[in-house]
Parts: sequence; C-alpha cells; structure tokens
Amino acid sequence: MLSIKNLHVKLEEEDKQILKGVNLEIGAGEVHAIMGPNGSGKSTLSYVLSGKDGYEVTDGEATLLGDDILDMEPEERAAAGVFLAFQYPVEIPGVGNMTFLRTAVNAQRKARGEEELSAGEFLKVVREKAKSLKIDADMLKRPVNVGFSGGEKKRNEILQMAMLEPKMCILDETDSGLDVDAMKLVAEGVNALRDAGRSFLVITHYQRLLDHIKPDVVHIMADGKIIKTGGPELALEVENNGYADILGEVA
Ligand code: ADP
Ligand code: MG
Ligand code: MG
Repeated sequence: MLSIKNLHVKLEEEDKQILKGVNLEIGAGEVHAIMGPNGSGKSTLSYVLSGKDGYEVTDGEATLLGDDILDMEPEERAAAGVFLAFQYPVEIPGVGNMTFLRTAVNAQRKARGEEELSAGEFLKVVREKAKSLKIDADMLKRPVNVGFSGGEKKRNEILQMAMLEPKMCILDETDSGLDVDAMKLVAEGVNALRDAGRSFLVITHYQRLLDHIKPDVVHIMADGKIIKTGGPELALEVENNGYADILGEVA
C-alpha cells in the first residue's frame, strides 16, 4: 500500500534536516503504529505524505500503490486515497461542517470519476456515520471545528475519514486529549473501517490506544529515523520502560 524509502526531508525556510532516512513498508490491510519522543519527526512524516507546504524532500521516495505521491498536489493525494487526521484539527469559521464534508466527498468522487452523491444520499450516509461517532446534528451544522471540544474535534476527524473512505489513513495523535470513552469511540470508528484494501498509520504516545486498535507492526521513531520495529509488544515495552532503553540499545 505505502512504500517509503530512504526519505530525507528538510524545512524549506531553514537549513534544518528533520527526516533523516525513513524506511517504511505498509501492506494492504495492515495497521502500523509509530511511537517516539516529542520532536522526532512523526508529524513531519504525516505532513510530507499528505502534501503540506514548507518541507523539501532532499532524498528518497514515497509511493502509494506504486504511484509516486510526493510529486502530487495535496488534493491529488487525497483522491489517490491518502487521508491525514490532524494532531491539531483547525477551525474553519464560516464553513458549515456538513457543507465541508459534502464538498470534500463530492470533489473526491469527481476526481475518481465517480458520480456525485445527491443531497439525500449524502445526508443518509453522514447521519449514520455521525451517529456511530456520537456526533450530534448540531455539530454537523456548526462551522468546522469552531467551538468544538478537543474530543469533538478528534471525532470529527474520524467522521471525515469515514466519509472519504481513504486507502491510506494516517492518524496523528488522534487519541491525545481524549477521555477514555471518546478514545473508545475513535477506536471503534477506526476498527469499523479496517478492511483488506485499507491501511492505517497510527501515530500515538500511548499504548492505551493500541489496546483498542490492535496494530500489526509497531515502529519507534527518534531523531528523524525509525530506529526499531516490532510487534505490539514493543508498545508495551515503551509503556513500561519509556524510550530510554530503546534509545540506549540503538546508540
Ligand atoms: P513529533 O511529531 O515527533 O513531535 P515534529 O515532526 O512535530 O515531531 O517535529 C520534528 C522536529 O522538527 C522538531 O524539532 C520540530 O521543532 C521541528 N519542526 C517541524 N516543523 C517545523 C517548522 N515548520 N519550523 C521549525 N521547526 C519545525
Ligand atoms: Mg509532538
Ligand atoms: Mg507530532
């Protein structure tokens, strides 16, 4: 599904190298988790994959189902199936959540050569998916994320993901700031989307989330590189011992 080889990324504005040779292979249907100390480049990796401005790829490649995504515009990546749930979802005053979702869904359907959903069809799907995430009608009518609590914003990210049905879902600390119940809702939302043709990259600090979203593979990232890869037990090791042991081992 996603293949990243020797990815090197620096800031455009500064001579600062952030990713220093990331290698990652995610098969179709797999769930991979990335953990790692603050500042190790996890968010940068998610931004570079989804096409945020301000970063320069100085070496390496990233392909989705064999297609180079690094040369694509963000909307082309989205149409190809890349989705990023933000660590810090942005508020968009003046744009109704429902309008936003419908515009995004239909733009993507159009880019894929599919017919747009009618207003009725869209409403039916969005209501059903919102309900399972305990997002009420009022939240659908309000401007995107404006005045939403931290947990509501994160659940709204998962609603966007559920509506867009991406192939490669990247979740950047979607669990941070969530209480246990909200985290379970988010995990259920993710698990409902698990499918042989869809993969997940879950960035998290906490083993807790991985009790609910069972990963196939866990990676540890530090200083711009993946320094260790293992199974779910690696997340437990981090939970119990922190990163110090792993960092020391690698050094
Ligand atoms: P993580 O998500 O693992 O906490 P980030 O990807 O957010 O790490 O950041 C990696 C490093 O790059 C940090 O040292 C951060 O300060 C730096 N960095 C990322 N983006 C920028 C930016 N736009 N300007 C300056 N420094 C940045
Ligand atoms: Mg961070
Ligand atoms: Mg981050």
